[in-house]
Amino acid sequence: MSRSTVCITCDFDAVSAWLHLFDAGESPTKLSRGLFGVDHGTPRLLDLFDRHDIETTWFVPGHTIESFPDVCETVWSRGHEVQHHGWTHRPLSSYETEAEERADIERGIESIEALTGRRPVGFRSPSWDFSPRTLSILRDLEFEWDSSQMGSDFLPYRLHDDWEAPLDGPFDRGVPTEIVELPVSWQRDDFPPFAYRRGQGFVTERSVFDQWQAQFEWMHEHVDDGVFVLTIHPQVSGQSHRLANLERLLESMRARSDVEFRTLSSVVDAFVDR
Ligand SMILES: [Zn+2]
Repeated sequence: MSRSTVCITCDFDAVSAWLHLFDAGESPTKLSRGLFGVDHGTPRLLDLFDRHDIETTWFVPGHTIESFPDVCETVWSRGHEVQHHGWTHRPLSSYETEAEERADIERGIESIEALTGRRPVGFRSPSWDFSPRTLSILRDLEFEWDSSQMGSDFLPYRLHDDWEAPLDGPFDRGVPTEIVELPVSWQRDDFPPFAYRRGQGFVTERSVFDQWQAQFEWMHEHVDDGVFVLTIHPQVSGQSHRLANLERLLESMRARSDVEFRTLSSVVDAFVDR
């Protein structure tokens, strides 16, 4: 691997995430924010990735695939990998039973298979939320990797199962599994700073890109084989002024000869072979 790897990941929630946020329901104004990502954000991002010859990883809920098949087909046919992001984008810990949670994940697998002809091997949970049952369901369904947890900043690691967190005793971290984690961070996600919702959002926009740049520079200097996973949403980063800032960031990363852009599956393959 190069000195540093950059993985651009796009969570293509479209309208699905808005079905579960706040008062839920069918506010057409709220849902239109997702439609912006379908009609404008995704085409602009795909053009930007083409200009810089960057292969990215898209996490696409089955709801998005079945609602907007043409644009999802475009993402896939333009050479990006498509992995699992739930069916409805409902947080998995909100399901009361293992059977309901498993059915959501299985339905998402079917949607991706219908789009790509391939079974997904990677998973990102909606809102980065695992239930205590999620890992065992993923193992049972033969996923190979996840990108939802935060136990490292820039290094892949293996998720542990059979952990225990009693309120009246010490934490037992359990045993490592075969599932590789590509860790994420709310600090490397466009949604918290940029997507206005009930008093959240609105920052000095340039400060977020400066922060991402600084995090990348620290990783590049201090971490051997560091992996910088950036999470963006077409409905958020597909806005014109952010695209320009994103393009500048990608150009500055690409300017280094020891930095590679890769998909998450490609990083996992290298990690497992090591
Ligand atoms: Zn999402």
